Amino acid sequence: MQRGRNLVFGLQYFEKVYGKTVVAVAQKYTSVDCSTCGNTVKKLLSVRTHICSCGGVLDRNHSAALNILGVVA
Ligand SMILES: [Zn+2]
Repeated sequence: MQRGRNLVFGLQYFEKVYGKTVVAVAQKYTSVDCSTCGNTVKKLLSVRTHICSCGGVLDRNHSAALNILGVVA
């Protein structure tokens, strides 16, 4: 738990020093939801490529990052 507190403290410091905004996003479903159409595409953790019936094909982490950006934006 101490690591979590240190991370929060570090992010708060980053916000103040650099004038940036840090937003906490729940990680649940960020890598299973399609960043193109929003469909849920369940896959094992070992499956690193997101492939959706809408034609969206992305690296799993890239798709998750786009979903997170969608939450923040
Ligand atoms: Zn899709």
